[in-house]
Amino acid sequence: MSESMNNQRRSILHVDLDAFFVSAELLTRPELIGEQVIVGYPKGRSVVLSASYETRKLGVRSAMPMSQAIRLAPKATIISPSHSLYSSLSKQVMEIFRSFTPQVQQLSVDEAFLDVTGASRMFGSAEEIAQAIKTRLKEELGLPATVGGASTKFVAKIASTSAKPDGLRIIPHGETLDFLHPLPIRALWGIGPVAGKSLHEFGIQTVGDIANTDLKVLQRVLGEASGNRAWELAHGIDTSFVDTEVIDHSIGHERTYEIDTDNFEQLQKEILDLSRKIGQRLRKIGHLAGTVSIKVKFYDFKVVTRSHTLEIPTDSDTEIYKTAGELLKELSASAIWRKVRLIGVRAEQLTLPGELAVQLDLWDAPKQVHKDVDTVTDKIRDKFGNTAIVPARLSTAREPEQEG
Ligand SMILES: [Mg+2]
Repeated sequence: MSESMNNQRRSILHVDLDAFFVSAELLTRPELIGEQVIVGYPKGRSVVLSASYETRKLGVRSAMPMSQAIRLAPKATIISPSHSLYSSLSKQVMEIFRSFTPQVQQLSVDEAFLDVTGASRMFGSAEEIAQAIKTRLKEELGLPATVGGASTKFVAKIASTSAKPDGLRIIPHGETLDFLHPLPIRALWGIGPVAGKSLHEFGIQTVGDIANTDLKVLQRVLGEASGNRAWELAHGIDTSFVDTEVIDHSIGHERTYEIDTDNFEQLQKEILDLSRKIGQRLRKIGHLAGTVSIKVKFYDFKVVTRSHTLEIPTDSDTEIYKTAGELLKELSASAIWRKVRLIGVRAEQLTLPGELAVQLDLWDAPKQVHKDVDTVTDKIRDKFGNTAIVPARLSTAREPEQEG
């Protein structure tokens, strides 16, 4: 999707199935409808994968240690997950979404953003499309879902969260600020506990308070890029778009060489270039990568991949490059290393900052430095084109890289 579409007012839906794994299990166990149900492995150090709303009332949450969940809901029925069932249902769910618009960005097995701006002539208003999607999911698959709608991804996501379960909430563009401003600051993407605390010290409690705070104050408290971002979101500004190329929660770039190479420095430069592209794209769509991987195809067409899961998910070029470069170094030192035909970098396990805000403070100081630099760089690139800023180490001419 082209970025020029950002200039038009968009109509975005965020669709999220309710307690998806539990709902999927109940299809074959109707006797458990309305009961306390937890999907997860009952043993060891496993965590809750999905909890019915009846157990959520008792405080059970996804990702909670199973032992704790059982203490809170001792009468709950525990079902081991059937991942093949979920993935086959997930495919059908995404097919239903794509029957309304090709502009679907899948966020997880049961969640996606849909840009339905162009679908209204055929399917009606955003609200009518949202209702039609809910009806089809219920009638064809037996799965309940909640849909939020707005003119931006960010507000659509908050709208659906506020309408769960089995809800539908559309925020008309003109009501965006009325909807956002009473919300606590933690509703903003990227505001974690530490950033939240610093803002509270300034008496800033709600999104509306952020909107009414001098931008300079926000920049001082949160750092320049994060301060800008918070201010923009508080004013309903979110230019991230529905990226249909995010498949399996990952994005990647790769490059094939005309002549096989084992020049380590050349490959390292390539990794730097690819990492920069991925970082730029992550920031455009407003996501963080949990895992970084590299792919190398040797001259004999043997393909190897190496991946590393980050302690703190990132959208920073530097962090991605550091990880990918380290993976390349390790691989090049191994016995399987040969001349390279293709090299690629991939960002995997993409998440929205808001999903992590509860556990992590993404605005922690040292990590933030790179982010500020990257964001400023993106702004210059957007203004003057991609060649305006190139890391000093990248100077050789190159062939166009492929997108994975
Ligand atoms: Mg869900």
